[in-house]
Amino acid sequence: MQTVSRVKEMQVLAKKMWKQDKTIVLVPTMGFLHPGHLSLMHEGKRRGDMLVISIFVNPTQFGAGEDFEEYPRDMERDQKMAHEAGVDVIFAPPAAEMYPSGYQTYVTVEQVTQGLCGISRPDHFKGVTTVVCKLFTIVTPHVAIFGEKDFQQLVAIRQMVADLNLAIEIVGMPIYREEDGLAMSSRNKYLTPPERKAAVCIIKSLKRAKALFDSGEREGKKISREVKNSIEAEPLSRIDYIKICNANDLKDIDQITQRAVLAVAVNVGKTRLIDNIIFDPSGGSAG
Ligand code: AMP
Repeated sequence: MQTVSRVKEMQVLAKKMWKQDKTIVLVPTMGFLHPGHLSLMHEGKRRGDMLVISIFVNPTQFGAGEDFEEYPRDMERDQKMAHEAGVDVIFAPPAAEMYPSGYQTYVTVEQVTQGLCGISRPDHFKGVTTVVCKLFTIVTPHVAIFGEKDFQQLVAIRQMVADLNLAIEIVGMPIYREEDGLAMSSRNKYLTPPERKAAVCIIKSLKRAKALFDSGEREGKKISREVKNSIEAEPLSRIDYIKICNANDLKDIDQITQRAVLAVAVNVGKTRLIDNIIFDPSGGSAG
């Protein structure tokens, strides 16, 4: 396994792989790896010849006052975990390599980024799609793998790939959870022990929603209300949003008649956590 910090060097490596007809798989991350990331890497191993992960805490996707500075970083630990997962290349550029002085080009996906997290994090997705587009042009993967935990991000990336005619297969992977159901996230590290316990209210509420859906409930408002009550019963939590939308275009829906996503963002103490569950009227629910 090698760690590459220069764009040019990554491009040379990728070109070599293309010449040898090798399939390149990219798993973009912000590092501080956990088993959720590893599940993406294992899928990546299965799908290609050269597995590249990027580790880049992308400054443009953090708003003012967000946790860019505090975001956990541990390159040595990440390198060990990536090596064990069979990663071939870690692409870990410094910020100035990705955004040199005078940088002024951004990629914006307009509609699917407006609601949900786009409301409280207005420039977040512009930063995400910009950096992912740059990673795509640098690493030139055949396949790129993302987690469904960041569901809106995955929808935005699929839209970008379609709109810009990028010949990259986008794979979405299920949410990997702790034993008590909390979605794994590098940000879980911020939680104090009482907050960590309180955070279970999120999955509890989603399970309650799943039970309602499975019992035949299709009215979005009724399900959302149950989720709200269930999360609000936990005093350390503060709801940012609870939304049920069409899973393809993230448009609001009242009745769950097609594949839908119930997405939530909840502040537990000072930590903002997101989670979601998919409702599929044709075949049950998952997430
Ligand atoms: P991050 O490092 O948090 O930006 O995440 C990098 C990638 O891993 C994104 O595609 C995330 O959606 C994905 N990911 C993060 N946490 C999980 C999880 N618990 N289960 C599955 N994928 C995840």
